[in-house]
Amino acid sequence: LMGQMMHMPLMISSLLTHAARHNGDVEIVSKRVEGDMHRTNWAGIEQRSRKLAQALERLGLKTGDRVGTLAWNGYRHLETYYGVSGSGMVCHTINPRLFPQQVAWIVNDAEDKAIFVDLNIFPLVDKLAPMMPSVKHVVVMCGREHMPKESSIPNLLCYEELVEAEDGNYQWPTFDENTAASICYTSGTTGNPKGAVYSHRSTVLHAYASAMPDAMSVSSQDTVLPVVPMFHVNAWGLPYASAMIGCRLVFPGHHLDGASLYNLFEQEKVTFSAGVPTIWLGLINHAKQNNLKFSTFKRTVIGGSACPPAMIKTLQDDFGVEVIHAWGMTELSPLGTLSRLKAKHADLPKDQKEAILAKQGKGIYGIDMRIVDGDGKVLPWDGKAAGDLEVRGHWVISSYFKMDKSPLHDGWFPTGDVATIDPDGYMQITDRSKDVIKSGGEWISSIDLENVAMAHPAVHEAAAIAAFHPKWDERPLLVVVKKPGAEVTAAELIAFYDGKIPKWQTPDDVVFVDEIPHTATGKIYKLKLRETFKDHKLP
Ligand code: ADP
Repeated sequence: LMGQMMHMPLMISSLLTHAARHNGDVEIVSKRVEGDMHRTNWAGIEQRSRKLAQALERLGLKTGDRVGTLAWNGYRHLETYYGVSGSGMVCHTINPRLFPQQVAWIVNDAEDKAIFVDLNIFPLVDKLAPMMPSVKHVVVMCGREHMPKESSIPNLLCYEELVEAEDGNYQWPTFDENTAASICYTSGTTGNPKGAVYSHRSTVLHAYASAMPDAMSVSSQDTVLPVVPMFHVNAWGLPYASAMIGCRLVFPGHHLDGASLYNLFEQEKVTFSAGVPTIWLGLINHAKQNNLKFSTFKRTVIGGSACPPAMIKTLQDDFGVEVIHAWGMTELSPLGTLSRLKAKHADLPKDQKEAILAKQGKGIYGIDMRIVDGDGKVLPWDGKAAGDLEVRGHWVISSYFKMDKSPLHDGWFPTGDVATIDPDGYMQITDRSKDVIKSGGEWISSIDLENVAMAHPAVHEAAAIAAFHPKWDERPLLVVVKKPGAEVTAAELIAFYDGKIPKWQTPDDVVFVDEIPHTATGKIYKLKLRETFKDHKLP
């Protein structure tokens, strides 16, 4: 007997029409590249997204065509997400912080037919245009009055003119929910970037799961400020989940320094946010130095790289902000696990709760996990056995764009992370397999070493990397940026490890630097650090 229920394809456009109908008056606030604040609402976004869809068709773009965006978080970018995917085209968000050649490479690989670009990123597109032959239209996301005066690109288009020329008399089409909706490239720190192609179905299911109380726990009560850029795995799906739940959205544009963010959080009464650990370093420093507190900010998701326990504690104890530690990756749309307590943990002492919350968390329904050893043997969930983390689920890639070779192992996607899973299902990442420090055949977790260093009051940021050792092959080297005005010596930092980790794992040496390099998505650029310190002589 078959079920006798309606089949309604899961369409990205349906998220937006729902938002417009049920929460049409809920505000979408954007700090614009032009410098001012802009206010619209879900009804306004829906109407303009329809006009944009009409404009795309008028330009001759067809179902399946890729439309690139090089833009910060803002309402026009949101309209582009929905206008492009909603009409059956594929929204390809590109990270403007990548090396220019990489941007061109990605545009060419995706064969983008059009590029939507923010005003202050336009010079990059202007320069790269001759290297991107597939691009037939460049749309600058501003009004006529701000359009670039000079450009080598013929027929440069103005976003506001394109949208305003249409009447909005457009019906969102319905089609196969497995149709491509958007494409994101991995940052490709090793080798060329690879494209993950999300479908309407995977995106809508990810939105459902991510908003749940034991996941990000966002609702229509919230004012959400995604610090994570819309070009970093679709701002972790927040533009979709926000429409589903109808929350108020605040977009920071490119104003991501501690002071600008703090002011925006306060002015717009933000309750919820999400971003990588580095961004919180800036915000926490600004708040501490100026003795500031948050009046409405209550919860934030931190992920993308391991969130140091000291950061979770500072946000909770000093600022009353609950941290939801999350793990994910581009290939997972991106959410895999989030750390939330279970009912049985309610009476645990504070430090034990903190230890659970510092893990990367429980798999959300829709994601299945396992850990395997080098021979592919499945390891137990005992919190001790560490193995290669593999996942499968509704929003996990099954192949990369244009690549024949399957990335899957036995039907599972190998994440490249090494992890343990405890009997309660909490997963903890020990390391990326390429960042593990291999000392005489034993593995040392660089994340563990960084977490200890980050708890030292003089440390602003710390990275642990493998340095060459004649006897042990590799030994840990700690690279540290001190807090402004703080003093600490290498010997003091090494002594700080006493009793916190097994003695043999203690870093052999510490080097102090002014700045630690970061990747385009704000993660510690370990590859570069290893290169810089490859000839470092350990004591
Ligand atoms: P890229 O590989 O392009 O940098 P992703 O943003 O997809 O892009 O990175 C995914 C990787 O980031 C994961 O495989 C993992 O190594 C790391 N990561 C993400 N979240 C966490 C976390 N909470 N703790 C530790 N590592 C994390």
